Order: sequence, then C-alpha cells, then structure tokens
Amino acid sequence: MSIEKLLCMNKEWAKKVALEQPELFATLSKQQAPKYLWIGCSDSRVPANEIVGMLPGELFVHRNVANLVKHVDFNCQAVIQYAVDVLKVEHIIVCGHYGCGGVKVAMENTNAGISDYWLRSIKDLFSRHRGELKNLDNQELRLNRMCEINVVEQVATLVHTKIVQSAWQRNQPLEIHGWIYGIDNGVIKNLNVSRNGLEDIEDIYQVDI
Ligand SMILES: [Zn+2]
Repeated sequence: MSIEKLLCMNKEWAKKVALEQPELFATLSKQQAPKYLWIGCSDSRVPANEIVGMLPGELFVHRNVANLVKHVDFNCQAVIQYAVDVLKVEHIIVCGHYGCGGVKVAMENTNAGISDYWLRSIKDLFSRHRGELKNLDNQELRLNRMCEINVVEQVATLVHTKIVQSAWQRNQPLEIHGWIYGIDNGVIKNLNVSRNGLEDIEDIYQVDI
C-alpha cells in the first residue's frame, strides 16, 4: 500500500466519524478527558483503542516494546505523571499480549541489538521465575506464562512509583489493572492483580512523601 493511500484512508475515516458523531472532533479540539491510561506493547497487532472499542479521546496511551514500566524511563514516567496528576485518569491498564516478541527475545540467548538493553529487565524476571516455568510442557506455554508474569511485574512497578503512591495518599481514585490480550482470538484476559490503594506495599517500596 502506498503512503498516499494512507492519507486517502484518513480522509475517508474522518468523514465517516464526522457523519456518525458530528460533535466529536469539535469537542475533542477543546479538551481531552480520558478516564483510562493504557500501557501496552508496540506490537501492531495490539491497537489499544480498537480492541476495547474506544473512540479518540477515551484512552491516554503509552506503548513500548513489551509494555514495560521502568522507573528510569522518563518517557513512560512523564506519561504516567501527566495522566494521573493532570488528566486524573481513574484507571491505569497494563495490557500485555501472548506471544510477545520482546518477551520471547529476552528468554533466549540471542543478539537483538539495542533491544537487548531495553529487554534486560525481562531477562532478570525470567531468571527469577525459571523454576516455575520449567514445569510447563513446552516453550510456547513458557513464553505465554512469562508474558503474564511480565504484566504482573509492571503493575507492581507502577504501585511503587511516587506518582501513584502520591495519588493514593491524597485519596485520588486510581485503580491499576493487569490484562493480557490473545492475538489469536482478540480476547483480553484479566489477570486479577488490580490495586487501588496503599495496602500491602512492602516497606522499602513505600514512598515517604
Ligand atoms: Zn509485544
């Protein structure tokens, strides 16, 4: 498909949306008020808005390879800070996906170039869970379980951020969720690791604000 075709398709899309919802673009041009921050993988098969049936304006989105939340990643931290402190989103969703290429590379001894640095934290996570993963029958099952473990870890990292703990300390409603998407069936599974307050945070991770 040519690049010009994409611009043509955009014109068609804008026309269709304007017909279906005449007020949408005018409303969005004045402000955004999303209730959800989505942290997902860059994988082209996991488009945030589409898979939860949401329109422009409804999701604030951050995506990177393997949906990682890192304390030293100013890009991700800036997105979280703006979403929580300014937009006051009520939910942060970390959505991974089965068969994630980033997680797969981290589980192997291959040279992925600069991605190796980015994925290093998953390698450490894999090493920590190797015992549990060893009991699974095949590599596909191990990869998919590791994709779940990776989401759970990112939820924990979010809970440990100053941004999230500050919001909870001032009683701002904020829930964090861990989900995983099936590329082969389009269905999201809730990993049931949601958090909505300061309870059960290990002492060394409690931020003294
Ligand atoms: Zn992925």
